[in-house]
Amino acid sequence: MSQTTTSQTATTHMLPVFARADLAFERGEGVWLIATNGDRYLDFTSGVAVNALGHVHPHLVQAVQNQAAKLWHVSNLFRIPEGEQLAARLCAASGFADTAFFCNSGAEAMEACIKMARKYQAVNGKPERYRIVTFEGAFHGRTLATLAAGGQEKYLEGFGPRVEGFDQVQLGDLEATKKAIGPNTAAILIEPLQGEGGVRAPPPAFFRALRQLCDDNDLMLIFDEVQTGMGRTGELFAHTRFGIKPDIMALAKALGGGFPMGACLSTAKAGQGMTAGTHGSTFGGNLLAAAAGNATLDVMLVPGFFDHVQRMSLLFKQKLASVCDRYPDVIDQVRGEGLLIGVRAVVPSGDLVVALRNEKLLTVGAGENVVRMLPPLIVTEAELDDAIGRLERACIALSPDAQKRKAG
Ligand SMILES: *Cc1c(COP(=O)(O)O)cnc(C)c1O
Repeated sequence: MSQTTTSQTATTHMLPVFARADLAFERGEGVWLIATNGDRYLDFTSGVAVNALGHVHPHLVQAVQNQAAKLWHVSNLFRIPEGEQLAARLCAASGFADTAFFCNSGAEAMEACIKMARKYQAVNGKPERYRIVTFEGAFHGRTLATLAAGGQEKYLEGFGPRVEGFDQVQLGDLEATKKAIGPNTAAILIEPLQGEGGVRAPPPAFFRALRQLCDDNDLMLIFDEVQTGMGRTGELFAHTRFGIKPDIMALAKALGGGFPMGACLSTAKAGQGMTAGTHGSTFGGNLLAAAAGNATLDVMLVPGFFDHVQRMSLLFKQKLASVCDRYPDVIDQVRGEGLLIGVRAVVPSGDLVVALRNEKLLTVGAGENVVRMLPPLIVTEAELDDAIGRLERACIALSPDAQKRKAG
């Protein structure tokens, strides 16, 4: 059934840690990716929630080209005015943060968050407070500490003793969370909406209860907005709809619009232990990254940008629900916020991803047998309709009922 297969070619010298599709692209245009053989694919992966403005957005191209012709990198031995500007803009837009630390990826942003929370407790005379409460199904990255934070056995296996200090509880279980807090707890860490975990989230009241728990116990509340942040859920930051603020927040994925970049945003209070020499990065927030980040924000902060995302979200969810109704033997649920949308497959989700790819619609798998649909935030209604047509054809190909009807 699969035209596109997973590549295990003997000629590659790439460490085979990814189950890559045997497909390569040479060009992008907005929501479209053009393969080396000329085929056009509708890209609802956005490079895993990275290319929020689509491919080769003219404002980003211009900004990065201009910067590339002037200066690329100077290191953090010196001031970087463009980075200072980006930090100020992100802090202002966040409504809670006073400072930003720039790095190059989501996992690095999370590492900074974890270190900051521990250091906060240490400089306040409680170095024994180093443990962090995390939630089942979480994904925080692939470094040794962020793997331990995520707690997924399949990712930890074979990599030696797991980094100490993470206590995982059931997502949404407030009583278990309270029980997990002890004299050694420094922080609570959670994604506003789990992406890799299967596009799942507890209700907003749970997040408000976590805020209260943190306030009552002098714990840091850390939001991992690496995937949800930068507009993906229909607001610049997903947590704003809970009506509460974190102490520390991780960003990455869409922050540079495709340029590798991460950030740890925090209040002055949370960051009080992070003085000169306590943390660092060679590349973090270099001039090219800052240019990409500023250009991404320029576009997202134009009035009406998030209205568009929310409108497309509503339309897309309605259209997806109607496909669900017609092919209940292929997909049975639509979930998510903004344009971080998951459809739960009844068939193996990997089969649905392949069937969609055969229809030239690119999607990403997630936990709980969910297929993630992450279109660029600039997607139009016509492009959503196009995607729905492709989804229907994939459903027909996979639906035992539809196949029976065809045969009869
Ligand atoms: C992708 C992701 C990460 C890790 O980001 P990398 O850039 O791959 O290190 C961390 N947290 C969340 C929620 C993510 O989605």
